Amino acid sequence: MILVNDQFIPRENVHIDIEDRGYQFGDGIYEVIRVYDGKIFRLDQHLLRLERSAKEIKLVLPMSIQEIKEKITKLIAINNLSTGIVYFQVTRGVAPREHSFPNNRVSVLTAYTTEKERPLDKIQNGIKVVTTEDIRWLRCDIKTINLLGNVLAKQFAIENQADETIQIRNNIVTEGSSSNFFIVKNGNLYTHPANNFILKGITRDVVEEIAQKLGIKFIEQEFSLNEVYKADEAFITSTTVEIMPVLQVNDTKISHQPGQITKTLQNEFSKLL
Ligand code: PLP
Repeated sequence: MILVNDQFIPRENVHIDIEDRGYQFGDGIYEVIRVYDGKIFRLDQHLLRLERSAKEIKLVLPMSIQEIKEKITKLIAINNLSTGIVYFQVTRGVAPREHSFPNNRVSVLTAYTTEKERPLDKIQNGIKVVTTEDIRWLRCDIKTINLLGNVLAKQFAIENQADETIQIRNNIVTEGSSSNFFIVKNGNLYTHPANNFILKGITRDVVEEIAQKLGIKFIEQEFSLNEVYKADEAFITSTTVEIMPVLQVNDTKISHQPGQITKTLQNEFSKLL
């Protein structure tokens, strides 16, 4: 079943209006949440981020955060989701096509679930990434459904036999197409500061929490691709890939197997699930 505002509807009966602003302008926001054994991981943090994204694009949510929480929880139960993801988005609703906001704004919440196993093979064995210019806009901190820059970056990875593309803006490594990026140097963690150039990942927050607990320094600092090449370890994080080791960046091997710090973080992460 699909959640459309207040109703749970079979997928084939859901119809999106051609003048839904999400469809025409990418005028909306979204979240992806993990469900492990029927239990939702970090729902409150995702909802807080949704609320922030809404505020930043001046979108009025169709219901309270508490109501969205209840609806998402009910959807998972109705669909009997065990291990997988919930995707939900809110668009600025349906109105005659005008760039400016419609007057009587009625935003539209839709959500659906997908069974999805954890990518255990890559979590254990690591991946290769490539790099490209970060061509996205200057508000990457908003989780908007307008994802063309991210789509092109991800496709670049696929066309170059890699798993993810790490983006670079003015010689500074920002983040992946749909993940945050970390390096480890001399036992410390480095990642791009949480400003307008990256999305502040919920998994990134979890890594920060774990690092604090273990006494590993979590340093939010800009770094270049050259520093990535000289790193001891590297990994990406996201709701769907969790903490995934990066063994190779372009043609440079970072490590032959997942590094010790990365594995330690992964271990602690698993304990939270
Ligand atoms: N950065 C971008 C651009 C993303 O799209 C995502 C997730 O989709 C992330 C980072 C990681 O965020 P999270 O850990 O909340 O999934």
